[in-house]
Amino acid sequence: MKLVFLGAPGAGKGTQAAEMAKRFDLEHASTGDIFRRAVAGGSELGATVKSYLDGGRLVPDELTARVVGRMVLEEEPDFILDGFPRTLPQARLLEEMLNARGEELDGVIYFELGHEDAMVRLTGRVVCGGCGRNYHVKFMPPAEEGVCDRCGDELIVRSDSSREVVERRLREYEEKTEPLVGYYTRAGLLKTVDATRSPAEVSGATEELIKSLMNDE
Ligand SMILES: [Zn+2]
Repeated sequence: MKLVFLGAPGAGKGTQAAEMAKRFDLEHASTGDIFRRAVAGGSELGATVKSYLDGGRLVPDELTARVVGRMVLEEEPDFILDGFPRTLPQARLLEEMLNARGEELDGVIYFELGHEDAMVRLTGRVVCGGCGRNYHVKFMPPAEEGVCDRCGDELIVRSDSSREVVERRLREYEEKTEPLVGYYTRAGLLKTVDATRSPAEVSGATEELIKSLMNDE
C-alpha cells in the first residue's frame, strides 16, 4: 500500500499518518524524519541535504525527490508519505520515480480544512512560560484564562502561532501545495476526509478509506 497524505497546516495530517502507519503496519515517511535520517547516515546525499538545512535554505525539489527515492521507494514496499510531495514538480518527480520502478500510488488522502478553520486552530496555541505545557484557547483551554493549570504561571502565545507567521505558512501552502489536490483528482487518486471533525472521527473516516483502498487492490 503506497499512500500520500495531503493537507493544510493544522489539518492533523501528521498525527493521522503516524496513527494509520501503526494501525496498518506501513512505514510513516515524514519528510522531516527522512532528512534527519539522511543527514545522520552520513552519505554524500545526506551531506548535500545537510548543507541546505544548516544554511536554513529550502531543500530543492530534485534533491528532496532523490532522498525520498533512495530512503523510501527503494527500501519500503508499503508507506505513507507525509510532507512529500509538497509542490507540483515534486509530485511529477514522484510519479516518474514510481513509474520507473513499475509501481504506482494506491491513493492520496486529503485532509480538507478551510483557511479560516486552519487559522483558528493554529493561532489559538498558547504555552506556559513556567513549565512549558501547551494549551489551545478554544480546543484545550486552561481552567482559568491565561493561567497554567499545572503551575499557575502565565500563558503566552507560541512564537509559531502569531497571526502573521500562520498567515505566511498558510499562504505558502495554498500557493505551492494546494494545486496537488487538482493534480491527484485528475489522476483519479484523491480521497477526501473532512478534517474539521474531531480527531477520533477523522481517524475513523481515514481508516475506512484505507480499508476500501486495500479491498480494491
Ligand atoms: Zn505551567
